[in-house]
Amino acid sequence: MVDVQIVSRGIDDEATLNAFLSVPRHLFVEEALRGQAYNDYPLPIGEEQTISQPYIVALMTQSLNLMSGDRVLEIGTGSGYQTAILAEIAKEVFSVERIEELAKKADELLQRLGYNNVRIRVDDGTHGWMEQCPFDAIIVAAASPDIPGALIDQLRDGGRLVIPVGGRSSQELVRAMKKGHEIVRRNLGSCRFVKLIGEFGWMD
Ligand code: SAH
Repeated sequence: MVDVQIVSRGIDDEATLNAFLSVPRHLFVEEALRGQAYNDYPLPIGEEQTISQPYIVALMTQSLNLMSGDRVLEIGTGSGYQTAILAEIAKEVFSVERIEELAKKADELLQRLGYNNVRIRVDDGTHGWMEQCPFDAIIVAAASPDIPGALIDQLRDGGRLVIPVGGRSSQELVRAMKKGHEIVRRNLGSCRFVKLIGEFGWMD
């Protein structure tokens, strides 16, 4: 998976690649789908949600330029796979998921795997996680009409954010960096994510 799907498409950040080699992706999908866990596409995880395609997880992770001391906010825990990748690299990961069942399952698995630098909470992540801000990096794993303002507010100066922005059926993956009062945006390419449902995302 790492060589054929990730390195070959230009991902070269060592911390990202090492994290991919460490996290057992098959444990984050249902037993019936384990044989497909390392394939080049997203898979259903229940509750009409999906675990993202490995390359997209790698692209988003690399674009955050994470350092080992970083505190990261993730919106959309889902299976917890991206959470584990982030937890391999950063110091602390705060992850928000709106569906309780998914949050519970991910939390149990991540604890079982020994990730004690992760905190998961059930909430509308379009509000961020005020009590824990500022964050060095923020990653949103669901598609939003625009970048929720609270997330920009909770990013530290110099912090990085990655989020799929656009319509319901296809989006642009946007990388934003906060520089004082300015937000420097760069498009990383088109993508297709499930909807970010919440006050500052899409309505249910
Ligand atoms: N990175 C995850 C992707 C999960 S899909 C993985 O690879 O498994 C996106 C997730 O975002 C879904 O679990 C969905 O329930 C969640 N989500 C959607 N809107 C949300 C919101 N406002 N706050 C928190 N989580 C949200």
